[in-house]
Amino acid sequence: MTHAGHVALAGKPNVGKSSLLNAIVGEHLALVSPKAQATRLPVVGLRTDGETQFVFHDLPGLLEPAYAMQERMRALALDGVRRADVILYLHPAAEGPPPDLATAAGLTEPPRAPVLLVHTKCDQVPSAARPGLEQSGIITSAETGEGIDRLLERVAALLPEREFLYPADDLGTQPLRFFAVEFLREAAFEHLEEEVPYSFTAEIEEFRDSTDPVYIRAILFVERESQKGILIGKGGATIKKIGQHARGRLEALLGGRVYLDTQVKVLPRWRKDATQLRRFGFPDLPTETT
Ligand code: GDP
Repeated sequence: MTHAGHVALAGKPNVGKSSLLNAIVGEHLALVSPKAQATRLPVVGLRTDGETQFVFHDLPGLLEPAYAMQERMRALALDGVRRADVILYLHPAAEGPPPDLATAAGLTEPPRAPVLLVHTKCDQVPSAARPGLEQSGIITSAETGEGIDRLLERVAALLPEREFLYPADDLGTQPLRFFAVEFLREAAFEHLEEEVPYSFTAEIEEFRDSTDPVYIRAILFVERESQKGILIGKGGATIKKIGQHARGRLEALLGGRVYLDTQVKVLPRWRKDATQLRRFGFPDLPTETT
């Protein structure tokens, strides 16, 4: 009998959730950034080993929301935690054991599913610190791959008996156009500073995968006219780098060539605007739909 289930990657921003997902799946699916709160919408990564299928959900960081987009990010993170069969609670090894998940995340009640504490980025702690950490959780490094097999074994033992939820060869569930936006955002976090990457998003206006190269036309949005100039950069240098980064990631994922066309527009205050948030894929909060 096969086992399959949903595994939530939960924790504060920047603890290494996206990096761990990518290391487990073996593909760069989720965007990684040294800047906090880069993950906005959950990214799903699949791994099937023999009779076991893991459906990992890289969730937005659990944080106190400051504005409408962050409220939706938190709602998505909490929803992912609620639906999971197993919850991985990630925390950097160098910061020692964290408070329990319910306290750290401000949950009103403890989660239903079992919670495994995962000490991430263990390549950053001296080996003398390992035994202490191993008593409270599983130590892993997305950088070196250490601990990932052990983690998968522990999770597999907690997954319910169930038919596979996806074909065994699949690595992801989301369409290429979703990843096109994610990789453009990843590039924005890499090449833009301060508030600009947070004001940035993208929308795919045209997507043709019957052609070679695959043709993608994206509109890049920022919130202010002044940010538009920064995004384009001197002689178009910054936007060129952003496009190249995203194209490289997409080509690696697709295993084929991609032509990525970009255009910049200003969309004031979109992160605080329910209509725009809906447009960019953030589900309504329960209070807004009733
Ligand atoms: P998230 O916000 O929780 O999804 O965290 P990310 O996966 O985006 O990682 C945040 C930062 O930590 C990035 O700069 C990563 O390169 C870095 N990072 C993630 N995992 C590791 C790891 O295992 N070792 C080290 N040294 N750095 C890591």
